[in-house]
Amino acid sequence: MLNIGGLKNGIVLDHIKAGKSMDIYKYLKLDKLDCQVAIIKNARSNKMGRKDILKIEGDLDVVDLDVLGYIDCNITVNIIKDEKIVEKKTLELPQKLTNVIKCKNPRCITSIEQELPHIFFLADEEKRVYRCAYCEEKHK
Ligand SMILES: [Zn+2]
Repeated sequence: MLNIGGLKNGIVLDHIKAGKSMDIYKYLKLDKLDCQVAIIKNARSNKMGRKDILKIEGDLDVVDLDVLGYIDCNITVNIIKDEKIVEKKTLELPQKLTNVIKCKNPRCITSIEQELPHIFFLADEEKRVYRCAYCEEKHK
């Protein structure tokens, strides 16, 4: 049973690979938000041995599920209302990523026109290959 102690309304990200919670904190830009965030590192897990958990106060829209799915689609998203889990979401690889990863091709238009958004499309789901929407460069 997941301990959501102290969280009235918010989101609990469970089954984060141990040690990855800070990456997710950074990717989701949680440092820019005013809401309460709790990071639990190296929690014991039957399934994974060790895992990290992130508890975020607030609405689901503070969390970009596409970004999370891109980082690790094994993360479980628990939605908490009135201290109860009301919904569990599973993640999948997003078809499109906007301003999450950057194109490294020096000839790509995004490196010339700095204000363009960096857009990538999922080109191969099995191999998790994303390609730049402008120059089709593969993201590594
Ligand atoms: Zn490109």
